[in-house]
Amino acid sequence: MNLPPLREVIARHGLIATKALGQNFLFDEQLLKRIAAIPGDLKGKPVLEIGPGPGGLTRALLRAGAKVTAVEMDRRCLPALAELAEAFPDQLRVIEGDAMKINPAELFDEPYAIVANLPYNVGTALFIGWLSGQAWPPRWSSLTLMFQQEVAERIVAAPGGSAFGRLAVLSQWRCTAKLAMKVHRSAFTPPPKVMSAIIHVTPEEMPAGVSARMLERVTEAAFGQRRKMLRQSVKGLPGALAALEELGIDSERRAETLSVTEFIEIARLLS
Ligand code: SAM
Repeated sequence: MNLPPLREVIARHGLIATKALGQNFLFDEQLLKRIAAIPGDLKGKPVLEIGPGPGGLTRALLRAGAKVTAVEMDRRCLPALAELAEAFPDQLRVIEGDAMKINPAELFDEPYAIVANLPYNVGTALFIGWLSGQAWPPRWSSLTLMFQQEVAERIVAAPGGSAFGRLAVLSQWRCTAKLAMKVHRSAFTPPPKVMSAIIHVTPEEMPAGVSARMLERVTEAAFGQRRKMLRQSVKGLPGALAALEELGIDSERRAETLSVTEFIEIARLLS
């Protein structure tokens, strides 16, 4: 499909990036093609894209054969997206609105992949919302998301380092989370201050007998005072010290040394 260059689309529609909306656009079509390949074969598959902006990633997803539903808050982008919808008949549905206020499950009647170059100001909140659903497996089949590299590293972090914390446990206790690609700041227009990276998350079976709320309470306590020993940080959580003893977890350890499995075991005993 021959489409006008993205820079021309931006100029024609006067789409000057707005900081308040976290707008950092990608124009490199080869890079966008590689991003759209991360979730695997998308031919005929439903995809939710948050923040299509002028439609660079959207094009790549459409070219990969995906059936895209794109939620965009910036009205200025709608005419450019309407042109794309015309170029790919029956493949693109654009919803004008705030992704924070939309329940994506209501937009689809089959599992969908989420692919997005997220606006930095709401990216983490959206991600936590998608991971925290009561129903499991979730309605989404995978998440392919651009974050600031520092956030991406916290999502995929292994125990033992300062990047390992609540976000890692939340991302990994019932999902596989991988760092799929690093993206240099110069790839964006305008370039953000920091480097970016794309993570790929797929849901796994939920561990039996563990309440998500309890796991949250355990990690909140343990990482709330991450420099302290567990016997200090979790002492306000009823039953936690006894659970450590029963599981043979040394209460002199600090939260960041525990594996995700150990957090799951503690939460299971307290659930
Ligand atoms: N996908 C485009 C790309 O890769 O070039 C644009 C990505 S830009 C980082 C983020 C986009 O999200 C912008 O188009 C912005 O207008 C949009 N956006 C910001 N906040 C939003 C929200 N709450 N709901 C929906 N879209 C939002």
